Parts: sequence; structure tokens; C-alpha cells
Amino acid sequence: MGKQLVIIGGGAAGPSVAAEARRRDSELKITMIERGDYVSYAACPIPYYIGDYIKDYRRLVIRTPEEFIRTGVDVKLRANVEAIDVDKGLVYVSDGSVLPYDNLVLATGAKAVRPDIPGIDSEGVFVLRNLGDALQVKSFIVENRCRRAVLLGGGFIALEMSEALRSIGIETTMVIRRDRPVPHWDPEFTDVILKELEKNQVNFLPEAKLKAIERVTDAKLCLHTDKGTIETDLIILGLGVRPETSLAEAIGLRLGDTGAISVDSRQRTSREEIYAVGDCCEVYHRIAKKWVYRPLGDIANKQGRTAGINIGGGNAEFAGIVGAQSFKLFSLEVGTTGIMEDEARQAGYDPVSNLVWGNPVARPMSRGERLGIKLVADRKTGKLLGAQAVGDKGAVWRINCLSVALWQGLTVQEIGYLDFAYAPPFGGAWDAIHVAAHALMRKL
Ligand code: FAD
Repeated sequence: MGKQLVIIGGGAAGPSVAAEARRRDSELKITMIERGDYVSYAACPIPYYIGDYIKDYRRLVIRTPEEFIRTGVDVKLRANVEAIDVDKGLVYVSDGSVLPYDNLVLATGAKAVRPDIPGIDSEGVFVLRNLGDALQVKSFIVENRCRRAVLLGGGFIALEMSEALRSIGIETTMVIRRDRPVPHWDPEFTDVILKELEKNQVNFLPEAKLKAIERVTDAKLCLHTDKGTIETDLIILGLGVRPETSLAEAIGLRLGDTGAISVDSRQRTSREEIYAVGDCCEVYHRIAKKWVYRPLGDIANKQGRTAGINIGGGNAEFAGIVGAQSFKLFSLEVGTTGIMEDEARQAGYDPVSNLVWGNPVARPMSRGERLGIKLVADRKTGKLLGAQAVGDKGAVWRINCLSVALWQGLTVQEIGYLDFAYAPPFGGAWDAIHVAAHALMRKL
């Protein structure tokens, strides 16, 4: 009889493990257990589903339970794993079943941060973590003919949601604790982000302390803050996430300094037979030179595949990340990679940086589009440490180029002469990256 693999969590990382392990080992008995209603879906396009750009939620589903079952992967839906006995190698499920395992994978994801204020559980207050949440928000908006929404938080998901809500005609207010959204972006860039919000009539309430949520009538909520009260039809929490580690902690797995599950490059936890993947675990940051917590979908997929290869009898290591991330806000592209000055100093580098505004296309073709690129390099070695870009177009592909440069350890001097595919609609003969690199070279 083949070995038994049990996967807890069916979001993004768990299904990647199942698919890869099955590909490699046809004898493996695989069971994936998910407490929600769906497995194997993409959470990242949720704002575009709520904003009606994607009309049918089924387009978010990558593989149905039936498709998994056809490949011999057993799927238990609406089943919560309540306990694990590591000595006996058993998993206890809420439907009463007890499953033996040779290998266990924790793909338990993350949980949304919920502020501890009165009324937080009121009807009309939502988190957005999974497909079920997205369906609930969308039907709530339609059924209650919502005209006003409040977004709590100023991270990339809240920003994406502001565009989604405005695109379906909802008056939207973003309420944040700090003075500006995405605080790890350079203030010059967050100014541009704030202007984009204003241009698109997103109300913005900074430095607000949440006090309470009150449902005043069937159709109306009040959000009380120290800056006043906002009346609204719905509230969406976008206050960040924490790794879901309750099972890991219960069985004594080692957690990292970030609070997420500690893993090695093969995705093994502190117990050899147990793996962890996705938003519940840490990932190695090649530039910061430490294990960090980055709950992102592309990382979850790569970690899942790595664990699946290893469990399926192969030998794979996940080489880590350089910290690339992007999002879209109305007509703006926003991207970052690597580390900025503070993190660089903490990692022992001597950072020097520069931010230049240029053109995303060749100047004669320009219609006034903006593109800002910030580069951070190490004074001692001249190597790139990080980059941010914000612009009307071309920001994200440039961040991706700079991610490759970071991965390869290129110096700013080398980046200043990189061979790019030049044509006027896509950039100048000296691309915005070259221009930014040469400007920084002069400071090194
Ligand atoms: P999840 O997808 O959260 O899956 C974990 C699953 O485990 C859950 O379904 C949960 O029900 C289940 N589970 C937990 N405990 C148990 C238990 N005890 N028993 C049974 N089941 C259990 N990332 C990007 O890189 N780019 C983006 O643009 C982006 N946009 C996003 C937009 C939104 C709205 C959201 C919510 C996320 C976005 N992300 C994005 C993040 C990305 O979706 C996550 O990083 C990814 O889904 C993580 O996958 P995961 O499998 O680790 O966790």
C-alpha cells in the first residue's frame, strides 16, 4: 500500500502540494481537508470579482473537488481539522473521521486581523480572506443595494478594493490608523497614491482610531472613530493578516521570529514528516538575508509545489524571494522589490538611494504619462538592494526586471547598461531603469 499524505487547507498552497505530489507518485494516498466551501481558487482576483470586472465567481476556481477526485485526491469539504496526534500520526477531523498520515502538510493560510471594538461582529461587517467571503460581500451589496462602504486599512488589498467599490458606483471611505496608506512605500509615491484616491473620489480619513461599530437600522451602520462618525451600508476589514498557526502550536512545531511556522528550504517544519506551505509559514528573503513573513499567492504556489515534489519522492529546494510585489490602483501601477533604506541598514548594508521621475515611453510619444523609479543600493558593493516604481504604465514590468537584477546580485553600474528590448512605445533608448541607475551611480 502507498504512503498516506494528508493536507490541511485547500486554498492555494494545499492544492499545489496535492497536484505535484500526485504527478510524482501515483501510489500516494492523498487527502485534502478544507473547512470552507471551496478548494483551489485564486483569492487575488477577488477585488475584480466584487468590482464586476469578473462576472462569474467560477472563473476564480482553478480546480473543483471533482477534478481532484478524478486524479485520486480525496477532498473533504466543510471539515475542520481539530487535532493532530504526532506520536500516532493521526489527524482528527470535525466530521468524526480519523486519518492516518505518513506525511502531513499544514497549508492553513492566514486569518484576518479583527480590531477588538464593540460591534465588530455586526451584520454588514466583512473580512475578505476567501472565496466564500467574496460571495457574501457581493450578494450583500446587491441584496441591500449598498451605496456607501467603509474600508478599514490602507494595505494593497484595501487599495484594490477602493477601485473595485468605486467601479460599481459605491461611495467609498478609507479609514486608516496612520497618516498614509502602504507606509513602506516612499512618501513621494504615497503622495501619488493619495492623489489617485482623491481623483477617483475615494474619501480618505487618516490617523483615525476605531472606537465602535453600531448597527443603527436594518440598513445602516455607524463607524465611530476619534475623528467622528461615518454612516455606511457596509464595512470591509483590510487590516492585515496573521499566520494561522493554532494546529502547529498545539503540536509544538517551531515558530519563527515572525510568529509564522518555521520551515527549511524543502518546506519541512521542525518535524521531518510535517511540511508547511503558504501564508501559515515563513519564507527566506535573499536580500534581507533572513526569514520573513510574506503572505502572498505566488509564494504560496511555489512553496506548495516544492513540498509536493519532495513528498512525491523528488528533491526540491525553494530558493526564497527578493520581495517583489505589485498592485493596481485605478490608472496607477505600483510595484516594489527588495528592501528599502531602514531594512537595508538593519541587514548591515550601507544604503544609498535615489528617486527619479521619467517617461514610461520614448519622449516623442509621451502624452504626459508619469513613471517614478526609486533605487536603493549598497554603497560598499554598488549592488542593487531594492526598487520601487509607481506610474501610469510600465511600472510593474520594470520592477520585474529589477527583481531579476536583484536575484542575480547585479550592481547599479551593470543595471545602467542592461540590454532591454527598446522600441518607442515601450520606453526610451535609455530606459527609465537606465536613467534611474545612472542617477544613483553618481551618488555612489
Ligand atoms: P489560504 O488560501 O488562506 O488557504 C488556507 C486554507 O486553510 C483556508 O481555506 C482555510 O479554510 C483552511 N484551513 C485553515 N485551518 C484549517 C483547519 N484546521 N481545518 C481545515 N481547513 C483549514 N497575493 C498576491 O501575491 N498578489 C495579489 O494580488 C493578492 N491579492 C489578494 C487579494 C485578496 C482579496 C486576498 C484575500 C489575498 C490576496 N493575495 C494576493 C494573497 C493570496 O491570496 C494568499 O497569499 C494565498 O491565498 C495564500 O494561500 P494559502 O493556501 O497559503 O492560504
